[in-house]
Amino acid sequence: MKQLVVLGATGSVGRATLDVAGQHPDQVQVLALTAHTDVAAMVRLCRQHRPRLAVMADAAAARALAEALGGESIEVMAGMEGLTAAAALPAATEVMSAIVGAIGLRPTLAAINAGKKVMIANKEPLVMAGPMIMSAARASGAVILPIDSEHNALFQCLPPGYRCGTPPQGIARLVLTASGGPFRGWSAEAMASVTPAQAVKHPNWVMGQKISVDSASMMNKGLELIEAAALFSVTADQLEVMVHPQSTIHSMVTYVDGSTLAQLGSPDMRIPIAHALAWPQRWSVDVPALDLLALSRLDFEAPDRHAFPCLALAEATLRQGGIAPVVLNAANEMAVEAFLAGRLPFMGIPAVISEMLETVGSAPTAGLEHVMAIDAETRARAAAYVQTRSVG
Ligand code: NAD
Ligand code: MG
Repeated sequence: MKQLVVLGATGSVGRATLDVAGQHPDQVQVLALTAHTDVAAMVRLCRQHRPRLAVMADAAAARALAEALGGESIEVMAGMEGLTAAAALPAATEVMSAIVGAIGLRPTLAAINAGKKVMIANKEPLVMAGPMIMSAARASGAVILPIDSEHNALFQCLPPGYRCGTPPQGIARLVLTASGGPFRGWSAEAMASVTPAQAVKHPNWVMGQKISVDSASMMNKGLELIEAAALFSVTADQLEVMVHPQSTIHSMVTYVDGSTLAQLGSPDMRIPIAHALAWPQRWSVDVPALDLLALSRLDFEAPDRHAFPCLALAEATLRQGGIAPVVLNAANEMAVEAFLAGRLPFMGIPAVISEMLETVGSAPTAGLEHVMAIDAETRARAAAYVQTRSVG
């Protein structure tokens, strides 16, 4: 029986994970769940899945959860201490890392240091500290399985027995597909006045707000390039982005002998989640079947880096390495938050990031605390800069 911990259980990926786990009650037992502030959602998930431990990152929310669950034998913890305790529970065998943002770095590392099978959806920690995370996994023996649909697709197209963190043999290129988001084909000028409601309306996927904005700016694909470089030990030159509006091919591996292998499926996160949860086996999962006859065609186009400067900024930091991706990620998180709150125009997102990267050299990162310090310092600088560009 797999003993599952879900970090970010109330989110889009967290709920999809519990849906897949719930389809296999004879194979998976839910051991711990974590969330930020949504007590009502957590109470429902606890009653349904009966974990041993429930964590709210917010202390007041943890008190409210403990009160609501009074009498039910579920331990409640709070804060970062609770998140890392859940991630490293001795009885846990599998951990789903599905918190959004840099805040997930410590819990994800805790699961890896404890040698768990760690399924990573939370891409921001891989952007900030990819090499550190992969070497921690080598040291502890933790198995890392990618959940991000592109990276899960690449993993499925790599040779059987391939382990994340090792350079794959015989590879010419890893091709990440991108839907292009809600503003595919738009000019930068046309995007100047788009609203948060327009930006989060993704054509193919239903996701959390932050990743939806990242998809609209194409920063999501930029973050995914850095994520892929870490997960698969490849260089920027071995990675390529291709816009594929149908989101049917989730990514492709081109081998040196001219073969290209692709993974196809409906745009539903339960597919990569089921793959990783069952790995190395396969489980059935109740998702809409892929109907290629109904689709009838697959289109491809080159990304427009002029209209979507976030993609080019991320590519530059991938080549730069060191602290640059940490700054990119923190600046983006701050800019997206300000955009969602109506304090920054959409095209202010790349402007904030490019300003924050201006003074950044190629200093290497020196451990977890250094990464967290760069993250905090960039957030403070970005907050001050957003004030000067504020729209109201
Ligand atoms: P979401 O906003 O729907 O959910 C985020 C989860 O993180 C929630 O459970 C929330 O309670 C928790 N959380 C937020 N802030 C927190 C904090 N400060 N402390 C502790 N917990 C906190 O996000 P999502 O769309 O499920 O995405 C989660 C991660 O997976 C992101 O990194 C995203 O890039 C990645 N991802 C998501 C999808 C998708 O389809 N949604 C696909 C690929 C990758
Ligand atoms: Mg993705």
